[in-house]
Amino acid sequence: MADADQPGSGETTLQSVQEAQRRCTRCVDAGYLATSNPVFSGHVGQRILLVGQAPGPVENDSTRPFAGRAGRQLMRWFERGGFAGEADVRRRVYMTSMTTCFPGRTVDGRGDRRPSSREVALCSGWLDTILGLLAPRLVMPIGSLALARFLPGRRLDDVVGRLFDASGAVVEAPGVVPVVLPLLLPLPHPSGQSRWLNDPARVRQLDSALSRLAPLIGWSESG
Ligand code: SF4
Repeated sequence: MADADQPGSGETTLQSVQEAQRRCTRCVDAGYLATSNPVFSGHVGQRILLVGQAPGPVENDSTRPFAGRAGRQLMRWFERGGFAGEADVRRRVYMTSMTTCFPGRTVDGRGDRRPSSREVALCSGWLDTILGLLAPRLVMPIGSLALARFLPGRRLDDVVGRLFDASGAVVEAPGVVPVVLPLLLPLPHPSGQSRWLNDPARVRQLDSALSRLAPLIGWSESG
């Protein structure tokens, strides 16, 4: 890969980073993927960042993040959390994932393959660069893989329904005390493959997380 395709090696604007990311073939070069097709969306000025696990086949075909069944469920959650609908979410939220190319199906064909730690490492530079350029005030990690990036060592059971700052400290409400930005509002993965929400107590945790979202939207965009 040419140096110009390396995140952080000269791209100074979000648009140029996105263009370079769209050309990325790291996982192809490393033998993990047959082809690359990075999926993400967003623009300068968005202060809310959504980080999922990886695109699925629908996202891969449409090159539109969170466009499949799990994404539609996530949009319904966000509507409950204060957004006016999917178009409002897409207008206000930068959307990416721990690896931005579809990893393919599992060997048994019953779901999408979870990206390996090596693939996550290969893609992490793009996420780091986006974080630096966007300077989001709110990050929503979706599922355990994204959670491990932002709150390492924590379990979904311990974090869904709570708000954290970037140091991992629990935050009661934005603006109450000085915090290390961005704030972090973890959510479970909305995929039907995930059984995390089969427990009613965890559904209540999700309800609690969504109830915290509405004030965070306006706060994120006010700074
Ligand atoms: S998943 Fe990330 S690192 Fe791998 S080829 Fe796609 S954009 Fe590049």
